[in-house]
Amino acid sequence: MALIVQKYGGTSVGTVERIEAVAEKIIATQKLGNQVVVVVSAMSGETNRLIGLAEEVQGTKTPTGRELDVLVSTGEQVTIALLSMALQKRDCDAVSCTGGQLNIRTDNKFNKARIQDIDGEHLKKLLNDGNVVVVAGFQGVDSEGNITTLGRGGSDTTAVALAAAAKADECQIYTDVDGVYTTDPRVEPNARRLSRITFEEMLEMASLGSKVLQIRAVEFAGKYDVPLRVLSSFEEGPGTLITYEDDSMEDPLISGIAFNRDEAQLTIKDVPDQPGVAAHILGPISAENIEVDMIVQNIGRKDTADFTFTVHRNDYDKALKILENTTIILGGGRIGGNPNIVKLSLVGVGMRSHAGIASRMFKALADEKINILMISTSEIKISVVIEEKYLELGVRTLHEAFELDQATEVKTKQQVQ
Ligand code: ASP
Ligand code: MG
Repeated sequence: MALIVQKYGGTSVGTVERIEAVAEKIIATQKLGNQVVVVVSAMSGETNRLIGLAEEVQGTKTPTGRELDVLVSTGEQVTIALLSMALQKRDCDAVSCTGGQLNIRTDNKFNKARIQDIDGEHLKKLLNDGNVVVVAGFQGVDSEGNITTLGRGGSDTTAVALAAAAKADECQIYTDVDGVYTTDPRVEPNARRLSRITFEEMLEMASLGSKVLQIRAVEFAGKYDVPLRVLSSFEEGPGTLITYEDDSMEDPLISGIAFNRDEAQLTIKDVPDQPGVAAHILGPISAENIEVDMIVQNIGRKDTADFTFTVHRNDYDKALKILENTTIILGGGRIGGNPNIVKLSLVGVGMRSHAGIASRMFKALADEKINILMISTSEIKISVVIEEKYLELGVRTLHEAFELDQATEVKTKQQVQ
């Protein structure tokens, strides 16, 4: 008998009718001979509504603290009870569990706690008694019994952690999209659902802005080798399986194109080309908790260098001010910046074994007269910074250049070498 963990997000349990439909899906999975653990989010909009109440009472846009977790964890408690009732009404034995009831132990960092340990024994017992176990996502308890929550989107992580603890055969994340796509279909209508993607690729896609899954859930699944599948709650289909790179399988050269509109670029030109300058420039930036993404230094004229980096667009003004101060300390340098840039990235484990990807990418962009402002690479990713007005054209151009609309880009290892 296989053990399946299914997670249903907020829209999937957004109304009583949808909760009833989820109950039917769970029963169908059980009838195939599986044991089923279900993790649910709060009904859609509920977590935001609760945070809104806390904002009013605490008088701040970013409410915090122990009581916030007591408050927001109630959203999931509503859905586990309703879903269990819907299952019981259909003569399916079901039991609801809060994070605490299932001993999901976390650290004590309220609002962004991390799971430390799950006592899988209790879960096993409930399953072996013939129950569907319906678990509140997003929540746990610390060692003193305080309720904690895992950060927005945390139910994905609950599901993966439970799947790891119970050694489930698969963790299925039901959501409002039917899988992971080669790129955002709103930008490129020819985007194609991937049947399979590796954990590594998914992490790159997710961190670059493809927000299908909580990043921490993907990291967790990779670490504990939990096969993860993203599927639609509303349509039948195989979804996308996120798994390990498997030598016996054919790797596509490129799996997808991710992009990030939230970046801004800053430059400081003609700074002295001496040891310590990079630290002088970036030190005060990180001291203000501004995260720096890409960094490029070019040799300038006469013992000077130009230094360019990107930050989150929200931090742009703050970073500019810091740079002004830096030029005073360094006794020189000219500051420039551009808040209207985007980062575009090709992601694929297949590029590890293939050299021509970067030049093919740059040529495709050049043919469309898209100027590349910065480049960075990792083993499975090539990113470029371009002007924001070229985002849509850039994505479509690369999607076409790498034939991502066709599954035929899949090549065997021999062919690409
Ligand atoms: N309800 C929580 C949120 O909206 C957790 C989740 O849905 O995963 O962030
Ligand atoms: Mg979610």
